[in-house]
Amino acid sequence: MEEVKAAIAFDQPKLRASVDGQTILVEGAYLVFEQDVIAAPDGAIAEFQIRMELRVVYPRHEPKVFEVGGRIPRIPDRHINPDGDCCITVWENWLVTANDHSFRSFLGGPINEYFLGQFWFERTGKWPFGEREHGTPGLEEAYSDALGIANRRKSLLYHVRLLTQHWPKGHWPCPCGGGLRLRHCHRHDLMTMHQRVPPNVARRMLRKLNPDKRETRSVGF
Ligand SMILES: [Zn+2]
Ligand SMILES: [Zn+2]
Repeated sequence: MEEVKAAIAFDQPKLRASVDGQTILVEGAYLVFEQDVIAAPDGAIAEFQIRMELRVVYPRHEPKVFEVGGRIPRIPDRHINPDGDCCITVWENWLVTANDHSFRSFLGGPINEYFLGQFWFERTGKWPFGEREHGTPGLEEAYSDALGIANRRKSLLYHVRLLTQHWPKGHWPCPCGGGLRLRHCHRHDLMTMHQRVPPNVARRMLRKLNPDKRETRSVGF
């Protein structure tokens, strides 16, 4: 909570934070800044009304950000769900690629980029940073990028399943599909991947790729 309050005080004076059980609520006007400009309230180029819900176990739990002013049309092409839930970023990818997972880094990084993108889209009809598809196809694309592999669902699922294991076994079939066992093929590449994408992150990826399947622990090759 102190971390949240400090971040808001520095960068987002129009937001306020309150605690509700295990959840921290952040509400008010989010100020959007141009990329790479030192945040200063009078330098904001737009404001969006938001409500953010974070758990005290942040960053282990992905925060939710809702646009509550009705400024963004609730259509998939605008990367927002009907209830106003914004797809700010692919959380697992952010965990894997960002060095700093503090709340302040999230507030000024992915959230700003999202609303800057929305602001830009309102003006030009285009996304400034390129775009992934909304929903599962975008998720698969993002995870493939994070793993550095081709975006094919079957291969992606197999890689992610391997990465959920603490120590991938050498006798498993190599995920490259070459037919060899891991120990005779891409074991080294997989171990490098394993260092970037730890099992807990891989398990979250698997859950999101297979939202219907509860069980992700047993792999069963
Ligand atoms: Zn989206
Ligand atoms: Zn291989």
